[in-house]
Amino acid sequence: MSVEQVETVVIGGGQAGLAMSYHLSRLGCEHLVLERGQLAERWRSERWDSLHFQSPNWNMNLPGWPGMTADPLADPDAFSPLREVTDYIERYAAAIRAPVRTQCAALSLARKPGSGELQVQTDGTLFVARNVVVATGPYQVPRATASLGAGVFELHSTGYRNPGQLPSGAVLVVGAGNSGVQIAEELCRAGRRVFLSVSSHERIRRSYRGKDCIWWLIATGSADSTLREWKGARLSRLMTGVNGGHDIDLRQLAADGVVLLGRVRAARDGRIEIADDLAASVAHGDESLQAFTLRCDEVVRAQQLDVEPAEDSPEDPLPDPPELKEPIRTLDLAREGIGAVIWANGAHAEFSWIDLPVFGESPASKRTPVHERGVTSEAGLYFLGLPWLHKWKSGFLFGADEDAGYLAGRIVLR
Ligand SMILES: Cc1cc2nc3c(=O)[nH]c(=O)nc-3n(C[C@H](O)[C@H](O)[C@H](O)COP(=O)(O)OP(=O)(O)OC[C@H]3O[C@@H](n4cnc5c(N)ncnc54)[C@H](O)[C@@H]3O)c2cc1C
Repeated sequence: MSVEQVETVVIGGGQAGLAMSYHLSRLGCEHLVLERGQLAERWRSERWDSLHFQSPNWNMNLPGWPGMTADPLADPDAFSPLREVTDYIERYAAAIRAPVRTQCAALSLARKPGSGELQVQTDGTLFVARNVVVATGPYQVPRATASLGAGVFELHSTGYRNPGQLPSGAVLVVGAGNSGVQIAEELCRAGRRVFLSVSSHERIRRSYRGKDCIWWLIATGSADSTLREWKGARLSRLMTGVNGGHDIDLRQLAADGVVLLGRVRAARDGRIEIADDLAASVAHGDESLQAFTLRCDEVVRAQQLDVEPAEDSPEDPLPDPPELKEPIRTLDLAREGIGAVIWANGAHAEFSWIDLPVFGESPASKRTPVHERGVTSEAGLYFLGLPWLHKWKSGFLFGADEDAGYLAGRIVLR
């Protein structure tokens, strides 16, 4: 076992860890980025083939590198396919000369006994550091799922790649957040019969008055809101960057043949119990969409923004699917010919490998370190890239710069 002394160890070679590396280099701080796989590993191995960046290309703006996307001729308003996102992150690391050690997983992190330093244990090396920045991602471990028993092919959305991976037959997608609706749309277009379990969600528009929703989130101040200041739609956006980007409307999915269900309450022996909450969830989504457009219109008036006129509501809005009035309350997988279930119910952080007193006792608080803008009460320990680390944008690529810059400043002050 070798021992290496490093001033600052950054754990995680995704966008957050690399933005951190940029700012540490800028301030002349010696550091090393440890990555358990390859750079941008989650974009490579935990996302599906057809995924496109869901923010327009002008949002690929990691600090200190003018290259927007990996393609210098890329349209700033287009949405890059997955391969270009990983290319972008890889080229960024090269452009900023990030000192990275790949295939090097941090197995544990603790205080070095009898010292103020921290130690990161990896497979062959013990790294001793004055500072450690944990940038291992906002979405690490799939949320728990109910087990359906033998005979059903089950996987989490982080393991979904394409329709060809699934056995033939109908598919149940559980969860109608950004991942669930995109997967349901892809399966429906591939000719599968799809059932989609919808939980409470909030919506904004992919494009409104000629501008992308990310532009609006910035213009209305939402992207820069802290959790305390936040008003309006949270993370579910029900949209995609595929085919030039569009909203994924649940009523449109239903019109295309997708069967909408309420939340999954329990699953046992091939039967699923469904809550009677579909109509309420859809209504809440509709209200949040209306609130979003109203907020945009208010900002246009207040700031006299030069944007296109407000769009009229369509004369023939899509009809409500029958499931809204007569909800399905139980689903027999065999009877419906459902051969696969995709759990698109989200993922959370996992920090059981960190042995430092910055977590609460309950199972949920063990996943969330106590911190202020990523700074913990443990000297030298920082977190980066968590949802709402500081602002709404903290969990997104375009939010990495500001948070990493702040933490680098704190590290220099030490
Ligand atoms: C399906 C999906 C689509 C998304 N689309 C967008 C989008 O279009 N635009 C956008 O701005 N955001 C998007 N996000 C949100 C966010 O930008 C991504 O989740 C992004 O990957 C987060 O970057 P990160 O660097 O913080 O974390 P990650 O990308 O998760 O990177 C963390 C890195 O740490 C490594 N790691 C983990 N544990 C260890 C360990 N113990 N030791 C060493 N290394 C370790 C991982 O291998 C990984 O490479 C999306 C998220 C999801 C789930």
